[in-house]
Amino acid sequence: QLPAGPLSVDFQKVTFSYDEDQPTIDELSMTLKPGEVLGLLGRTGSGKSTLARLLLRFYDPQSGVIALGGTNIRDCTLIELRKRVALVTQNIEIIQGTIRDNLTFYDETIRDEQIIEVLQELGLGAWYEAMPEGLDTGLASGGSSLSAGEAQLLAFARVFLTNPGLVIMDEASSRLDPLTEQRMEKAVSRLLKERSCIMIAHRLATVQRADHIVILDAGRVLESGKRERL
Ligand code: ATP
Ligand code: MG
Repeated sequence: QLPAGPLSVDFQKVTFSYDEDQPTIDELSMTLKPGEVLGLLGRTGSGKSTLARLLLRFYDPQSGVIALGGTNIRDCTLIELRKRVALVTQNIEIIQGTIRDNLTFYDETIRDEQIIEVLQELGLGAWYEAMPEGLDTGLASGGSSLSAGEAQLLAFARVFLTNPGLVIMDEASSRLDPLTEQRMEKAVSRLLKERSCIMIAHRLATVQRADHIVILDAGRVLESGKRERL
């Protein structure tokens, strides 16, 4: 069982490869304290998104340990893990179901009024109003009916409603119009309160809110430290 509240993250000598070849993640160790914001940088193909996938157990590493809140993630159920760790990307994982199911993951303690309030706060009020059956409207799996901006804002809505202890943002704010960008900024500020966060980006400028920076190169830590030092 994962503890409540912000989660610590601990990678200990984690090695992973998609095939027999070169490891994509190579004996990587890093830690994040509860409530901290980590900026994860590195060139295309350096392994940033792979780390996110390992944290959610889309794959398991060949060796090493990944722990959240002091618990080896192999010892928690996938349901528990994915409830406590949220991934925000441009391609929100839409599950086969209604808007409500997609935002609450079937948690029946979340009330419809709460959902609508969060949608309005994020500027998705008009989008929601246009849905023929309100929260009961089905979403196409894969999210094909959503624009990139809508998909990202919905991913934020999911975070605010399900209240995870770790949020991973993988390049979460590119290709957006200025108004959506502004909404996103506000949403990010709210998201960082009382949560640990890993912000994946290409440039240092994008991760101004990070307490700590790790730069990856070919699956290894090239540099790490306080933002000001790099
Ligand atoms: P970007 O900045 O472009 O998003 P990234 O740092 O997120 O890059 P990853 O997506 O983690 O990089 O990919 C790391 C390496 O693993 C790349 O060489 C990529 O080609 C390879 N890779 C990624 N996904 C798979 C997969 N499903 N099967 C095989 N190889 C993969
Ligand atoms: Mg990536």
